Amino acid sequence: MSRPETSHLFYQSRQRRPMLDQARGVYMWDVDGKRYLDGSSGAMVCNIGHSNPRVLGAMRKQMDKATFGYRLHFETEPAEFLAAKTASLAPEGLDKVFFVSGGSEAVESAIKLARQNAIAIGEAGRYKVISRDPSYHGCTLGALALTGYAPLADPFEPMMRVMPKIPAPRAYLDGLDPDDEATGRHYADMLEQKILAEDPETVLAFIVEPIGGASTGALVPPRGYMRRIREICSRYGILLIHDEVMSGGGRTGRFFAAEHWDVDPDILVISKGFAAGYAPLGAMVAHKDIVANVLDAGGFLHGFTYAGNPLACAAGLAVVEEIEREGLIRNAADTGALLKSELNKLMDRYSIIGDVRGEGLLLAFELVEDRATQQPLAKELNAFNELVDIAYENGLIIYSRRTRGGHSGDHFLIAPPMISTADHVGEIIEGLDLSLRQFLDRISQQRAR
Ligand code: PMP
Repeated sequence: MSRPETSHLFYQSRQRRPMLDQARGVYMWDVDGKRYLDGSSGAMVCNIGHSNPRVLGAMRKQMDKATFGYRLHFETEPAEFLAAKTASLAPEGLDKVFFVSGGSEAVESAIKLARQNAIAIGEAGRYKVISRDPSYHGCTLGALALTGYAPLADPFEPMMRVMPKIPAPRAYLDGLDPDDEATGRHYADMLEQKILAEDPETVLAFIVEPIGGASTGALVPPRGYMRRIREICSRYGILLIHDEVMSGGGRTGRFFAAEHWDVDPDILVISKGFAAGYAPLGAMVAHKDIVANVLDAGGFLHGFTYAGNPLACAAGLAVVEEIEREGLIRNAADTGALLKSELNKLMDRYSIIGDVRGEGLLLAFELVEDRATQQPLAKELNAFNELVDIAYENGLIIYSRRTRGGHSGDHFLIAPPMISTADHVGEIIEGLDLSLRQFLDRISQQRAR
């Protein structure tokens, strides 16, 4: 069958990607039979691997019963059970679960709930949501106002109220030791300074990715940072929102990444790995007191048609059960530790790798011109696209971003499904090794010209 002219792609793409045929476990095949190892779980989505038979079975069972029941007409078992399960995994007190279809919707829901809570408790002057730069919180206008990535946000600036930002704690760029408490304090105190500069009584919330995603490339906060952020928010009556859209669901070695520091937010959001690509699903999980305030004041002025879709929730529930049954969080921690040590060995061999970071199976490396100065590669090399394309040709899928603003920086997320084994780690490292060698050859040819 010949491929029709594309009419659903809205991006400039340098080449059309092959047509996907099938996906099983950590592998995907195109229609020509070429196999790819899904080294980034799509966009850090397919946490339990592709085509899991138990998840497909649960979805089929639900499909035979009902695929849609509008939330104002019916409650559904999958939504009820998934909400209870999610609340049981979330921090103490965060037991109210609001279902949505993706990460941006979850972030929108969180900031709107926070705002309605402020009005309900007589603090209507609070509306600013501080976030970090760089960060990614979604592309709808509310979430985009929080996203710290100017190229995405700038064209829409007149249409939204851009929110205050503080720098993300990229200690490796500032030559600071992330294991030193003073480093954590240095970056966390920027939040307090920003709150004071903005007027504390106008600040509603602070939103943070506990372990960074695409924006910072798996940035792990420096020692003491998360705890101090929590303290600062509490001191000024500001809600702390954890964006666990990418880090939630187990891939960092804990169900929620913030468990690494035992810090509880007031609201958290989750998506991507929640239903692991089997269905569009996300959730906002809020503290019961916040929800009670909003309900007492008349209820949440917000909701999406597909909220709590029974098929999506059946998929989500089966995914969470699969993670528990197969001990996938433990495996993410163990296999992630192996993969990280292998990436560090690659860094020993390739001086263009400037940094290796992350937790569990949310890992990244950054390419630089010079490791000592962390000077990025020349923008014209287009490294973030080139290396991805080379790896793709070699049958390895990785995910990249360039987010060091004006001075650019190329990082690559290595985040295979949580079912990955030591053999898969070997395959990923072999693919990266080959791809980096070919990338370097290409650069030297370009420079020779
Ligand atoms: N927050 C974070 C941390 C994310 O990584 C993403 C997606 N990359 C989003 C929000 C937005 O999610 P979605 O693309 O599902 O709207």
